[in-house]
Amino acid sequence: MTQRRILLVEDEDDIADVVALHLADVCDEVVVARDGYDGMRLATTGDWSLIILDLRLPGPDGLEICRTVRRERPYQPVLMLTSKSAELDRILGLESGADDYLTKPFSVLELAARVRAIFRRVDSLGSQPASKTESPQAIQSGDVVIDPSRREVQLSGETVDLTAREFDLLEHFARHPGRVFRRADLLDQVWGYGHEGYEHTVNSHINRLRAKIERDPSKPEMIVTVWGVGYKFEARA
Ligand code: CA
Repeated sequence: MTQRRILLVEDEDDIADVVALHLADVCDEVVVARDGYDGMRLATTGDWSLIILDLRLPGPDGLEICRTVRRERPYQPVLMLTSKSAELDRILGLESGADDYLTKPFSVLELAARVRAIFRRVDSLGSQPASKTESPQAIQSGDVVIDPSRREVQLSGETVDLTAREFDLLEHFARHPGRVFRRADLLDQVWGYGHEGYEHTVNSHINRLRAKIERDPSKPEMIVTVWGVGYKFEARA
């Protein structure tokens, strides 16, 4: 089993200490950076199973660090901590690419549960291919090709830059064309934890995904809204 290393970037000492203490139970090593400068340096040079970023930091803030990391490592799992739910739109906005978030004050048990869920997701993705001699088949739908073994999506031959979560979401839909998923189902099956309060997360990720893969994101043809229920994937010939 690979070593699990978490980078925690948090400038509030009390929170950093408590979180680091609890995360020690779910991973092999927690490294704490106490400002955005250290955070940026460690996030871009180290090898991390997960990076947890506070939003407001002295120096580069959590969003800036997240964007920088994403440019180099699209699949790096990132969890964002924010003090106001009003900031969620920024975090979940198109440019940031965080996989998950928690609003302060949060319970450390909830945080640990989220972290475990992220690790489970990464493990299950890592164990699907390579176990057999053949890698999983690429999924093609119209001009979209999803390659699970390389975790790469191409649209009309061009590689699309997706975050880890956006990729998981798209792959999940594409493996079940026509099936209608409620937001709660997607949280369970793609995010890996049951939480009724975070359906906003699903909507935001789907909007981001649509912006990247739909011909006209305002009239989605691939990930279609099923009014009053959820979403479904329309396969294309
Ligand atoms: Ca802070």
